[in-house]
Order: sequence, then structure tokens, then C-alpha cells
Amino acid sequence: MTPTRPTKIDVHPEGFYIDWSDGHSSVFTSRYLRFMCHCAACVSEWTGERVIKDADVDPDIHPIGVEAVGNYAVKITWSDRHDTGIYPYDRLRAICPCDGCRAPGGAPG
Ligand SMILES: [Zn+2]
Ligand SMILES: [Zn+2]
Repeated sequence: MTPTRPTKIDVHPEGFYIDWSDGHSSVFTSRYLRFMCHCAACVSEWTGERVIKDADVDPDIHPIGVEAVGNYAVKITWSDRHDTGIYPYDRLRAICPCDGCRAPGGAPG
């Protein structure tokens, strides 16, 4: 199976709009994506437990830099200077917050 890849990524202060190669579209708010950061500072490598708390995320968080990592991920630098978050496309697709993807039996968080 060909992995699903973004065909378009629109970056806005309030969030990311991604169109996928299978025709799906995702809207991620900046706050949600910052919270879902999977780096070692945000998620314990030992327990897999999320260290960052919802309340830790600045309500006005926004991306200040986005760069492609190879052809499989984007690295996002956030307005809180957090810049270690790498977001692989397959993970982004897996955390798509739309109703279709969040339905029971859908992608895990
Ligand atoms: Zn992080
Ligand atoms: Zn979705």
C-alpha cells in the first residue's frame, strides 16, 4: 500500500490545513498539534506517558517555522520556542481530529 502523503500543507497561525493523497483533508489547530508533539521532552521515552499537559500549551500558540524532514515528516518550530517536534506524515494522518477519523474504531490518539 502506498503511504498516504500530503499533497498540500497550508500553514496558518491558527492551524494547519492538510490535503492528503487519498483525497482526505485534515484541519489541525495549532494548539492541538503542539499538544500532540511526540518529542522526548513532551512524551516520556520510558513510559510513553505524555509529559506536557493541556494547560501547558499557550492558548495563542502558533507555528513560527515549518520545514520538511526528508519526505516523511515536517518539523515545526512553535511560538513557545519549542523546536524539537517532528511530525511524521503517517502520524499526522493518524491523529486527524475530524469526525470520520475519530469515530469509534478509528485512529488512536
Ligand atoms: Zn515536544
Ligand atoms: Zn480525518
